[in-house]
Amino acid sequence: MKKTKFYLFIVLCLNFLHETNSQSVSNDLIILRNVTIIDGRNNFMPNMDILIKGSKISSLRKSENHSYADSIQVYNLSGKFVIPGLIDSHVHLGQLGIHESSDRTHQEFRKWLYNGVTSVREMSGDARLIAYENRLIAIGKIPGPDIYYSVNYGSPDMVKKDLRQKKQSLGTTNEKVSWFQEAYPGMDIIRSIARAKGTGATGIKIYAGVDAKVIAQLSEEAHKQGLKSWSHLTVFPDRPLDVVKANVDVVSHVWGAIWQDPDVDPSLKVPFTHTSFQEARNAIFPQDLSLLNADDPQVALLYEEMIKRQTIWDATYNIKSSEKRNLYKKFLVEASKMGVSFSTGTDIHNDPESPFPSLFDEIEALVNDGILSEAKVIEAATFHGALAIGIESTHGSIEEGKTANLVVLSKNPLENIENIRSVVTVFKNGKEYKKSE
Ligand SMILES: [Zn+2]
Repeated sequence: MKKTKFYLFIVLCLNFLHETNSQSVSNDLIILRNVTIIDGRNNFMPNMDILIKGSKISSLRKSENHSYADSIQVYNLSGKFVIPGLIDSHVHLGQLGIHESSDRTHQEFRKWLYNGVTSVREMSGDARLIAYENRLIAIGKIPGPDIYYSVNYGSPDMVKKDLRQKKQSLGTTNEKVSWFQEAYPGMDIIRSIARAKGTGATGIKIYAGVDAKVIAQLSEEAHKQGLKSWSHLTVFPDRPLDVVKANVDVVSHVWGAIWQDPDVDPSLKVPFTHTSFQEARNAIFPQDLSLLNADDPQVALLYEEMIKRQTIWDATYNIKSSEKRNLYKKFLVEASKMGVSFSTGTDIHNDPESPFPSLFDEIEALVNDGILSEAKVIEAATFHGALAIGIESTHGSIEEGKTANLVVLSKNPLENIENIRSVVTVFKNGKEYKKSE
């Protein structure tokens, strides 16, 4: 009898502890006090308090009239600027040079997150590995951004031969994995998209050698099953305009646009078979670049279609070759003037010793080369990134009820885009990742 009472007492004590704990969690408010909000949707709001409760932004309000109880965690941030968590809309974990969970991968994750990159879109990797890494991040084992990933589609020839993909299919074969699939007329579209969804991916990615009619069928079914449809802007044999008309949500890479120019040597418009990355690059740059025109009426038609369908361009602009970059710049300036929406993807990782992720180079290149204004590039790197991934209702801007993914900057990035590097601290899902840690 005595024993039973003792156990009852212990159970009551544990219950009490549990309740006080959960109470302290529910009262867990963080206030970012007296900041200037740049909200990711072109709004600039000085003298604001951001209230974070748990993982969400619970309230935004003017600073002046509020004092807060001592028990609440208040960050006095007068003179600081807050932007939404940044989104790199084009990364490849495989490009980190490894195809295993490793220190190098985790070092890059850390670099992304502590500099404000809170979400990334992975554009064709090993779904087993990405899901594993995502889990490590989600349960707090390692710091990193949330990773949203794709299932890759290519011609049967590509699936058979692609050497890079073989590294994403280690232990099995390209033909067997669900994260790399053949696309061809007459394929079982519904089953294929269901297999894609089963990997945990949030989108499909059309890589190369897929007929535009098949792309349209894949997009339609992907949308029905709640996935996004992502594509290279040119996949061959069709032109970019056909890809956009196939109703994909995002198109990748600026280089694809040159294939809309009717002056591209027609003999090069052959069905694209893909045996290696290098071979693809050679097929892409076939002729004298000075013949190509960014203001060709056919190119304008492409941009009009993108605007009509709200297709986002993940341009991955920041490349080293100055000749190509000069050409691409003209294509992007024209698109930007007409009103095409951009996201900011990198496609490359910089030197591991570089203190900032390559996303910062992409952001600065787009502004410094006159393609986007400071305000527009912030929108591209936040809200448009969320649109590209399909998480815009919960991420990508600073609004009440949205996920508390925030970057605190000491200097105004609208005055000088390099100030986007003045990161003081970062919040992801309401949890702080302080830069000096
Ligand atoms: Zn890529």
